[in-house]
Amino acid sequence: MTATSTMNRLNIRVRLTLWHAGVLALIILAFSVGVFCLVSVGLYRDLDRSLGRDLAAIEKVYRAEPAELNELESEIGIDYFEVLQETRVLLRTSGWAREGLGHALGATPAPPRSWTTAAGSTFRVAEAAGSGFRIAVAVNEEPVTRSLVVLAAMLAIGVPCALALAIAGGYVLAGRMLAPISAMTARARQITAESLNERLPPGNPADEFGQLSAVINQALARVQRSFEQLRRFTADASHELRTPLTAMRSVGEVAMQSSLDPADYREVIGSMLEEVERLTRLVETLLALTRADSGAIKPARESVDLAALAAGVASQLAVLSEEKGQHLRLVADAPVDATCDPTILSQGLVNLIHNAIKFTPIAGDVCVTVRKILPAEAVIEVQDSGPGIPERHQSYVFDRFYRVDSGRSRDAGGFGLGLAIARWAAEANGGRIELESAEGQGSLFRIVLPLASVP
Ligand code: ADP
Repeated sequence: MTATSTMNRLNIRVRLTLWHAGVLALIILAFSVGVFCLVSVGLYRDLDRSLGRDLAAIEKVYRAEPAELNELESEIGIDYFEVLQETRVLLRTSGWAREGLGHALGATPAPPRSWTTAAGSTFRVAEAAGSGFRIAVAVNEEPVTRSLVVLAAMLAIGVPCALALAIAGGYVLAGRMLAPISAMTARARQITAESLNERLPPGNPADEFGQLSAVINQALARVQRSFEQLRRFTADASHELRTPLTAMRSVGEVAMQSSLDPADYREVIGSMLEEVERLTRLVETLLALTRADSGAIKPARESVDLAALAAGVASQLAVLSEEKGQHLRLVADAPVDATCDPTILSQGLVNLIHNAIKFTPIAGDVCVTVRKILPAEAVIEVQDSGPGIPERHQSYVFDRFYRVDSGRSRDAGGFGLGLAIARWAAEANGGRIELESAEGQGSLFRIVLPLASVP
C-alpha cells in the first residue's frame, strides 16, 4: 500500500494533523541544524581569533625581548605554546610538553585545526612562521565542545517537545475547525424523506463550511418543494380520479338494485360514459403535464403569426361562446411573428379562451388581442367580462389542481389544470404568462413571447 493511499484512508482531522506535524518537523529540524552550525562556526571563529591574538603577542615578544618569552605563560596565561628557532626549541611551555602537542605539528606550518591528544583532550592549534622561527600555540577546546553539547542537548529535548505540542495543538485545532462538518454530518444523517423540513446547522456564513451548509440547505429546500409538489400532485390527482369513479359506481349500483326499462338503462350508461369521458380527459391532461415535466416534449422553434394562430383558436371555440350568446372578438395587428411551437401555444391559448368563455356570464364579452410590444415582445391577451379572480387567489391559479371556487369550476368540467398547462405553454416557448384581474371586473390573461428575429 502506498503512502498516499494509506493517507487517503485516514480521516481529514488526522491527515491535517500529520501534514501539519510533518511540515513543522521539517522546519524545526532545518532551523535546529542551522542554529547548531551557526553557533559552532561562531565559537570556532572566536577561538581562532583568540589564537591569532596569542600568536601575535608571542611573535611580538620573540622579536623584542626573546628572554621574556617565559613570562607569557605566567603573566598573560598562554598555557600552551612553543617557539622554535630554526630547529632548536627556544621555549616550550610545560603544558605544551605535557599534552604532547608537538605531535600536532607538521613539517610546514598549517592553518588552525583541531587535534586530539593521546589522552583524549582536543586542542585547537594555530601556527605562525617567519624567517628562522616558527611559533605554535594551542588552546583546549573543551569549553567550546561543552557549549555545543549543551546546545545539542537542548535542541534534542526541545525539538521533540515542540513537535509533540504542535501535534497536540494541531489535532485540537483541526478538530475545532472541522467541528461544523461533524455537526452537518450528524444532522444530515437524521434527514429523511419524512423530515425534509430540517436543515443543516448554518455555521459561520463567512467561512467555507458555512457557505457549503447554506448551499446544501438551499438544495434541501428545492428537494422539499419538489417533494411537496409531487405529494400534493399525487393526492390531488387521486382525488380527481376518485370523483368520477365514485359517481360511476353509485350510478351502477343504483341501476343494479332496481330493474329498469331500456330507456333508463341507456340513461345510466350515458351518464357513466360521461364520467368515462371526464376520466379520459383528466388522464390525458395529466399525461401531457407529466411528459412536459419530464422534458420529453421538445418545443419546435418556428416563426408563427400569432394573429393567425389566435384567429384559428378563437374560431374553434366560437361555437361555445355562441351557445352563451357572448361576443367573442379578435383584435390583431397582423402579422405578429413570434418564435414558438404553434401546437403547444395553441393548447395554452385554448385553455385561456375556454376559461374566459366558461367563466363569463351569458351575453358577456370575450376579447382576444394580439399585438407587438416593441422592441422585442409579442403578446396575446384574453380579456373577459366574467367574475374576475380575487387578488388573494391570483398567485395560485396557475398551480395544478387549484380552483378559486372548486364547486363552480368542477361543475363547469374543470380539473384546475388548464392554467398550469397555459403557463407551461408560455414558458416552454421562452415566454411568460401574466394575470390582471380584480373581483367583479373580469380577467385579463396575457401570454408574452419573444418576437421572431428579423432575418
Ligand atoms: P379549470 O379547469 O378548473 O378551469 P384552470 O387551471 O383553468 O382550471 O383555472 C384555475 C381556476 O382559476 C379556475 O378554477 C377558476 O376558478 C379560475 N379562473 C381561471 N380562468 C378564469 C377566468 N377567466 N375568470 C375567472 N376565474 C378564472
